[in-house]
Amino acid sequence: MSGHMHLPIEQLLDESRAHECDEAGDEYVCVKIASIAELPTRFGDFHIVAFYNNKDGKEHAAIVKGDVTDSEDVVVRLHSECLTGDAFGSLRCDCRDQLEAALTTIGKMEKGIVLYLRQEGRGIGLTNKIRAYGLQDYGMDTVEANLALGFRDDERDYAVAAHMLNSLRVKSIRLMTNNPKKINDLTKHGIQVNGRIPHILPTNPYNEFYLRTKAEKSGHLIDLKDFKGKTHLQEQSDRPVVKGMTEEQVRSLHE
Ligand SMILES: [Zn+2]
Ligand SMILES: [Zn+2]
Repeated sequence: MSGHMHLPIEQLLDESRAHECDEAGDEYVCVKIASIAELPTRFGDFHIVAFYNNKDGKEHAAIVKGDVTDSEDVVVRLHSECLTGDAFGSLRCDCRDQLEAALTTIGKMEKGIVLYLRQEGRGIGLTNKIRAYGLQDYGMDTVEANLALGFRDDERDYAVAAHMLNSLRVKSIRLMTNNPKKINDLTKHGIQVNGRIPHILPTNPYNEFYLRTKAEKSGHLIDLKDFKGKTHLQEQSDRPVVKGMTEEQVRSLHE
């Protein structure tokens, strides 16, 4: 961790200890930094920042590269927890590829943040997510399974994510995403977003099916299916862009 700008840990902890949001009501989201430590990883040397919030009682994490406090244009990736993908390497989704690509990219930068939001299965929890997988195993189609998997309450995610960035005293960000809508949503929650960086996954045997699907559907992405007809659920809130996709294929993601 030598040679890297160090987060002002004590200062951030003191600020969070004294912090309390003024707002009240249903939309009230207040987040505090609970603890910070160094986290050397295979993707580079980071700090891990543990947060807790008053809204859902969940512990969220920020994986932080360099000193992001009082910084402009900090590259940020929002990642929603996926135990099956992130930890076990499940091929039912591409969450792990997305997470590793983000950590690899940000790990090489001077500064950057991956916000790891604890909302397994789009917020419906592990049990319900596995239930939806089970329904698919018994032949439920992608729409039914997606309904069973639940829709994410995006507003709340962005409120928590925005507050986490404020707690880290980030001045402005560039968001690593393929979903321009996310920028508007973060902006609505008071974050200054100065730009978007496309999140591009390296090709590997496991995400090639995206490329094949798009080639087959000539730029029209409706469902993501591999050759066996199995559906891969999209758990992160933006579609994956895989290295090698054409401009047209990328554009079709936003339609
Ligand atoms: Zn607050
Ligand atoms: Zn996943």
